[in-house]
Amino acid sequence: MSNLKKEEINDVLNRYDKDGITIATLGSHTSLHILNGAKEEGFKTAVVCEKGRETPYKRFNAADEYILIDKFSDIVNSDIQKKLQSLNSIVIPHGSFVAYAGLDEIENDFIVPMYGNREILRWEAERDLERKLLVEKNIRIPKKYDNPKDIDRSVIVKFPGARGGRGYFVASSHDEFNRKINNMKSRGWIKDSDVEQTHIEEYVAGCNYCIHYFYSQLNDEVELMGMDSRYESSIDGLVRIPAKDQLDINFDPSYLITGNHPVVMRESLLTQVFDIGDKLVKSANKLVPPGLNGPFCMQTLVNDDLEVIVFEISARIDGGTNSFMNGSSYSYLKHGPGMSMGRRIALEIKTAIEKRELSKIIT
Ligand code: AMP
Repeated sequence: MSNLKKEEINDVLNRYDKDGITIATLGSHTSLHILNGAKEEGFKTAVVCEKGRETPYKRFNAADEYILIDKFSDIVNSDIQKKLQSLNSIVIPHGSFVAYAGLDEIENDFIVPMYGNREILRWEAERDLERKLLVEKNIRIPKKYDNPKDIDRSVIVKFPGARGGRGYFVASSHDEFNRKINNMKSRGWIKDSDVEQTHIEEYVAGCNYCIHYFYSQLNDEVELMGMDSRYESSIDGLVRIPAKDQLDINFDPSYLITGNHPVVMRESLLTQVFDIGDKLVKSANKLVPPGLNGPFCMQTLVNDDLEVIVFEISARIDGGTNSFMNGSSYSYLKHGPGMSMGRRIALEIKTAIEKRELSKIIT
């Protein structure tokens, strides 16, 4: 629960020159197209960069203002906050911003107006809360197993913490689960404390689609902006080896995202796509008001019963939006050419300023 009062943020926002708003973000994740889109919509831009990591931003001429800091987490320091406020900044939160700034700091100490709902960031980060958002409106998710004894089909076993899916494994019975856990313990890959926190869910043998939506609070409309599929190391390298060699090399795969491919779905699935997007907006609105606001993503697997099954969500801009910096097939249908997610965010902020409704979409 955020200790920052909406009034505190509104006080800062009220002092801003609305004709001189800067769109700012941390130089990482999706910042290149957030800043590019902001420029296209006529905003000034600022990027907060860790020293030594500014090369791509300078080479792509990403921002008007470069704020260099020693380490990413310094973005919450009071001098940086003051600097951002002095530029009339609205900060766009992305995955790296949340990871480096920290949820507690965002909820309690970061008094710079942000686009989106800062409360909901915790809901996507904590598995139980994320699950609540999905089950509220019966969105199809993988079946969860509380006890490994109940395993009755292929399951994927996940461990806590961001370790890029290292050590995830697939098992089809309780015996196989125990054998693999013991094997991993003996290799030192996991500890007893990890075993207590294993997350076991149905393994969906399907194709991966990460669906990028934009929910406009101003228009009360869910837009389909694009889709990507993940390119993950080392699993995607491993599957290039013939199956018999995969068995021989006794290799522990990980699922660390290293890139994204743009993708489209068969058209008959789009009804489900809009249905689950609308449902998530409704449950977020009920459970974490003001709910979703702007970009969000549902990471899905589509099985051969043509079910779209959601295994993860992002309640802010997701990294896969980098696959359509110049627009996607879907954003083209809605907005015409060149509408990236970054530009869509900037367009929403511009519209809110014109309608004098900025405080409605800022937290
Ligand atoms: P996660 O850490 O939950 O984002 O998952 C990392 C990767 O594991 C995903 O991108 C998928 O490739 C795979 N994965 C996750 N959950 C499942 C599942 N229930 N069934 C099949 N593959 C999964």
